Amino acid sequence: MSKRIAVYPGSFDPLHNGHLDIIDRCLPIFDEVVVAVLLNEGKKPLFSSEERVAMIQELLRDRPHCRVESFSGLLVDFMDQKQARTVVRGLRAVSDFEYEFQMALMNRRLNPRVETVFLMPKEDYSYLSSRLVKEVFSLGGNVEGLVPQTVLDLLHKRLRQPAPVA
Ligand code: ADP
Repeated sequence: MSKRIAVYPGSFDPLHNGHLDIIDRCLPIFDEVVVAVLLNEGKKPLFSSEERVAMIQELLRDRPHCRVESFSGLLVDFMDQKQARTVVRGLRAVSDFEYEFQMALMNRRLNPRVETVFLMPKEDYSYLSSRLVKEVFSLGGNVEGLVPQTVLDLLHKRLRQPAPVA
Protein backbone atom coordinates (compact mmCIF):
# COMPACT_ATOMS: atom_id res chain seq x y z
CA MET A 1 0.00 0.00 0.00
CA SER A 2 1.31 3.47 -0.79
CA LYS A 3 2.26 5.80 2.02
CA ARG A 4 -0.40 8.18 3.29
CA ILE A 5 1.33 11.54 2.99
CA ALA A 6 -0.37 14.70 4.25
CA VAL A 7 0.68 18.20 3.37
CA TYR A 8 -0.12 20.93 5.90
CA PRO A 9 0.41 24.21 4.06
CA GLY A 10 0.47 27.70 5.50
CA SER A 11 2.41 30.86 6.12
CA PHE A 12 3.36 29.97 9.70
CA ASP A 13 4.61 33.51 10.32
CA PRO A 14 5.21 32.50 13.06
CA LEU A 15 4.10 29.00 13.97
CA HIS A 16 1.92 28.99 17.12
CA ASN A 17 0.39 26.37 19.38
CA GLY A 18 -2.76 26.08 17.24
CA HIS A 19 -0.57 24.95 14.34
CA LEU A 20 1.31 22.48 16.55
CA ASP A 21 -2.00 21.10 17.79
CA ILE A 22 -3.08 20.39 14.20
CA ILE A 23 0.29 18.75 13.39
CA ASP A 24 -0.05 16.50 16.44
CA ARG A 25 -3.55 15.49 15.37
CA CYS A 26 -2.18 14.49 11.94
CA LEU A 27 0.55 12.21 13.27
CA PRO A 28 -1.62 9.19 14.20
CA ILE A 29 -3.62 9.46 10.97
CA PHE A 30 -0.90 9.77 8.32
CA ASP A 31 2.36 7.91 7.63
CA GLU A 32 4.12 11.16 6.89
CA VAL A 33 3.30 14.83 7.44
CA VAL A 34 4.93 17.53 5.34
CA VAL A 35 4.61 21.01 6.81
CA ALA A 36 4.77 23.25 3.74
CA VAL A 37 5.83 26.83 4.30
CA LEU A 38 4.44 29.15 1.68
CA LEU A 39 6.99 31.49 0.11
CA ASN A 40 5.06 34.73 0.31
CA GLU A 41 7.73 37.37 0.53
CA GLY A 42 5.34 39.76 -1.20
CA LYS A 43 3.25 39.76 1.99
CA LYS A 44 6.22 41.17 3.94
CA PRO A 45 6.42 38.41 6.51
CA LEU A 46 7.97 39.04 9.92
CA PHE A 47 10.19 35.97 9.45
CA SER A 48 11.73 35.00 6.10
CA SER A 49 10.80 31.61 4.67
CA GLU A 50 14.26 30.28 5.62
CA GLU A 51 13.74 31.45 9.19
CA ARG A 52 10.28 29.89 9.33
CA VAL A 53 11.52 26.57 7.94
CA ALA A 54 14.40 26.52 10.46
CA MET A 55 12.08 27.46 13.34
CA ILE A 56 9.60 24.69 12.49
CA GLN A 57 12.36 22.13 11.86
CA GLU A 58 13.70 22.78 15.33
CA LEU A 59 10.22 22.46 16.88
CA LEU A 60 9.41 19.22 15.09
CA ARG A 61 12.78 17.61 15.76
CA ASP A 62 11.28 14.98 18.07
CA ARG A 63 8.18 14.29 16.04
CA PRO A 64 8.60 11.23 13.85
CA HIS A 65 7.48 11.14 10.22
CA CYS A 66 7.26 14.90 10.06
CA ARG A 67 9.28 17.19 7.82
CA VAL A 68 9.31 20.80 6.77
CA GLU A 69 9.68 22.20 3.28
CA SER A 70 8.95 25.46 1.55
CA PHE A 71 6.98 25.86 -1.63
CA SER A 72 5.77 28.47 -4.07
CA GLY A 73 3.30 28.26 -6.90
CA LEU A 74 0.31 25.97 -6.94
CA LEU A 75 -0.22 23.75 -3.93
CA VAL A 76 -1.53 20.95 -6.16
CA ASP A 77 1.77 20.93 -8.10
CA PHE A 78 3.69 20.65 -4.83
CA MET A 79 1.36 17.80 -3.82
CA ASP A 80 2.21 15.97 -7.03
CA GLN A 81 5.94 16.43 -6.44
CA LYS A 82 5.55 14.93 -2.97
CA GLN A 83 3.18 12.21 -4.21
CA ALA A 84 0.74 13.37 -1.56
CA ARG A 85 -3.04 13.25 -1.88
CA THR A 86 -4.24 14.92 1.28
CA VAL A 87 -4.12 18.58 2.19
CA VAL A 88 -4.68 19.27 5.87
CA ARG A 89 -6.09 22.59 6.97
CA GLY A 90 -7.11 23.81 10.39
CA LEU A 91 -10.63 25.08 10.98
CA ARG A 92 -10.94 27.47 13.89
CA ALA A 93 -14.41 28.85 13.47
CA VAL A 94 -17.18 29.27 10.95
CA SER A 95 -15.37 32.41 9.78
CA ASP A 96 -12.57 30.21 8.32
CA PHE A 97 -15.05 28.07 6.47
CA GLU A 98 -15.91 30.18 3.45
CA TYR A 99 -12.33 30.79 2.34
CA GLU A 100 -11.28 27.21 3.08
CA PHE A 101 -14.28 25.83 1.20
CA GLN A 102 -13.36 27.88 -1.88
CA MET A 103 -9.72 26.82 -1.73
CA ALA A 104 -10.58 23.15 -1.27
CA LEU A 105 -12.95 23.13 -4.23
CA MET A 106 -10.52 25.04 -6.44
CA ASN A 107 -7.74 22.59 -5.55
CA ARG A 108 -10.07 19.69 -6.31
CA ARG A 109 -10.85 21.21 -9.68
CA LEU A 110 -7.15 21.70 -10.42
CA ASN A 111 -6.34 18.16 -9.35
CA PRO A 112 -9.25 15.80 -8.60
CA ARG A 113 -6.90 13.36 -6.87
CA VAL A 114 -6.27 15.83 -4.07
CA GLU A 115 -8.59 15.77 -1.05
CA THR A 116 -8.65 18.42 1.65
CA VAL A 117 -9.36 17.40 5.23
CA PHE A 118 -10.10 19.80 8.04
CA LEU A 119 -9.05 19.32 11.62
CA MET A 120 -10.22 21.35 14.59
CA PRO A 121 -7.73 22.48 17.22
CA LYS A 122 -8.18 22.28 20.96
CA GLU A 123 -10.73 24.95 21.97
CA ASP A 124 -7.99 26.91 23.80
CA TYR A 125 -6.42 27.73 20.43
CA SER A 126 -9.54 28.32 18.41
CA TYR A 127 -9.14 32.12 18.47
CA LEU A 128 -5.41 32.10 17.83
CA SER A 129 -3.78 33.38 14.64
CA SER A 130 -0.22 34.36 13.68
CA ARG A 131 -1.46 37.88 12.97
CA LEU A 132 -2.91 38.22 16.48
CA VAL A 133 0.25 36.82 18.09
CA LYS A 134 2.38 39.41 16.27
CA GLU A 135 -0.02 42.24 17.01
CA VAL A 136 -0.37 41.48 20.73
CA PHE A 137 3.34 40.80 21.21
CA SER A 138 4.42 43.98 19.43
CA LEU A 139 2.11 45.99 21.69
CA GLY A 140 3.76 44.47 24.76
CA GLY A 141 1.20 41.75 25.48
CA ASN A 142 2.03 38.36 26.93
CA VAL A 143 1.77 35.49 24.46
CA GLU A 144 3.30 32.82 26.70
CA GLY A 145 1.42 29.54 26.36
CA LEU A 146 0.23 30.50 22.88
CA VAL A 147 3.53 29.96 21.08
CA PRO A 148 6.39 27.53 21.77
CA GLN A 149 9.31 28.94 23.80
CA THR A 150 11.60 28.98 20.72
CA VAL A 151 9.12 31.18 18.88
CA LEU A 152 8.77 33.44 21.92
CA ASP A 153 12.56 33.88 21.97
CA LEU A 154 12.58 34.69 18.25
CA LEU A 155 9.77 37.22 18.69
CA HIS A 156 11.79 38.89 21.46
CA LYS A 157 14.84 39.06 19.22
CA ARG A 158 12.91 40.40 16.24
CA LEU A 159 10.52 42.81 17.89
CA ARG A 160 11.79 43.78 21.31
CA GLN A 161 15.54 43.93 20.97
CA PRO A 162 16.69 47.08 22.78
CA ALA A 163 17.82 49.80 20.38
CA PRO A 164 21.62 49.94 20.02
CA VAL A 165 23.27 52.61 22.17
CA ALA A 166 24.54 55.47 19.98
P1 ADP B 1 -2.52 30.80 5.83
O1 ADP B 1 -1.71 32.01 5.49
O2 ADP B 1 -2.55 29.74 4.79
O3 ADP B 1 -3.88 31.07 6.41
P2 ADP B 1 -1.59 30.19 8.44
O4 ADP B 1 -0.16 30.03 8.77
O5 ADP B 1 -2.30 31.33 9.04
O6 ADP B 1 -1.62 30.14 6.91
O7 ADP B 1 -2.38 28.87 8.80
C1 ADP B 1 -2.02 27.64 8.26
C2 ADP B 1 -3.11 26.66 8.55
O8 ADP B 1 -3.27 26.55 9.94
C3 ADP B 1 -4.50 27.04 8.01
O9 ADP B 1 -5.18 25.86 7.68
C4 ADP B 1 -5.16 27.69 9.18
O10 ADP B 1 -6.57 27.57 9.12
C5 ADP B 1 -4.61 26.83 10.29
N1 ADP B 1 -4.62 27.54 11.55
C6 ADP B 1 -4.22 28.79 11.81
N2 ADP B 1 -4.41 29.09 13.10
C7 ADP B 1 -4.96 28.01 13.68
C8 ADP B 1 -5.41 27.69 14.99
N3 ADP B 1 -5.38 28.58 15.96
N4 ADP B 1 -5.88 26.48 15.20
C9 ADP B 1 -5.94 25.58 14.20
N5 ADP B 1 -5.57 25.80 12.94
C10 ADP B 1 -5.08 27.01 12.68
